Amino acid sequence: MKKLLAVLACAVFLAGCSPAPKRYNAVYTDVFDTVTEFTAYCSSQEEFDGMSERVHGELLRLHEIFDIYNEYPGIVNACSLNGAGGAETEVPDDLIELINMGIDWHKKTGGQLNIALGSVLSLWHECRENGTLPDENELLKRAGHCDIEKIAVTENSVTLTDPGMSLDFGAIAKGYAVGRAAEILKENGLEDFAISCGGNVVTSGKKPYGKWEIGIENPDGGLITTVSVSDEAVVTSGDYQRFVMIDGKRYHHIIDPKTLYPAEKWRSVTVICPDSALADALSTSLFCLDLEDGMKLLEDCKAEAMWVSQDGEVTKTPGFEDHEK
Ligand code: AMP
Ligand code: MG
Repeated sequence: MKKLLAVLACAVFLAGCSPAPKRYNAVYTDVFDTVTEFTAYCSSQEEFDGMSERVHGELLRLHEIFDIYNEYPGIVNACSLNGAGGAETEVPDDLIELINMGIDWHKKTGGQLNIALGSVLSLWHECRENGTLPDENELLKRAGHCDIEKIAVTENSVTLTDPGMSLDFGAIAKGYAVGRAAEILKENGLEDFAISCGGNVVTSGKKPYGKWEIGIENPDGGLITTVSVSDEAVVTSGDYQRFVMIDGKRYHHIIDPKTLYPAEKWRSVTVICPDSALADALSTSLFCLDLEDGMKLLEDCKAEAMWVSQDGEVTKTPGFEDHEK
């Protein structure tokens, strides 16, 4: 008995002495064409390295599935589907889920968020790379291949019944992927972490001395504000992220399906809400909607937002202000 007590006392003593979690950091540059940063509080470098491997592995897996530019051995991905010439294609569950989400958001936004806009978006992509403007006739021709009704989805397959159509997941893929990676970390017992992938940040738990503090960029440079969050995602869509200047005018990467030109309502929109995929879909949607329609959409989503207008005027929901220091 004495021996058992001694062992127990020793165990309690050892537990009491376990080192306080330390902050660790890793950066990946090979997923979603952007820089991803993973920060976590762990008890050792080994524990962090194991978690980092999981995050990176999940982001790489989803990057390959959602990639519209490249195919990869052993998987059927978004690029394969776009190139299927209208044939029914069996695709991974994550792609089915993302496509269903895209169809849902098309309805929610009256067509302003449209994952079937791929043919128009790829023309703009080429033009940004070449520093030219798209040919009007070509734009109109491609706009004829963006009807979301032409996506037929079953439990495990997708058919693009217009073979001239292509899907683009840029508006929603990163938020979905970062949310999935966060779930895996939680399943593996990690509590205090943040993942930042391009403009998409997801946070869990708290730093030992407070919440996570996320700086939000001013479209003209520097920070416009800082928000404190815990167990929430913070996502920004902005005209300063991917753009080309032609004759002094900025042509950026978020296209208004009505005009087929870059959306001009806002310079940036930031969304805060618990669900990372939702935050990503919302930020791009709000960027393409006016304030009134955006507010209506927000009411259904339990999310907060900040809009920066063309002349730098800032509008925030009251709940957004609550997150600012
Ligand atoms: P985000 O940075 O999340 O706002 O997403 C921007 C990306 O979404 C762009 O780079 C395009 O790939 C894609 N995109 C642009 N405009 C639209 C739109 N109106 N509907 C759906 N996706 C879009
Ligand atoms: Mg988005």
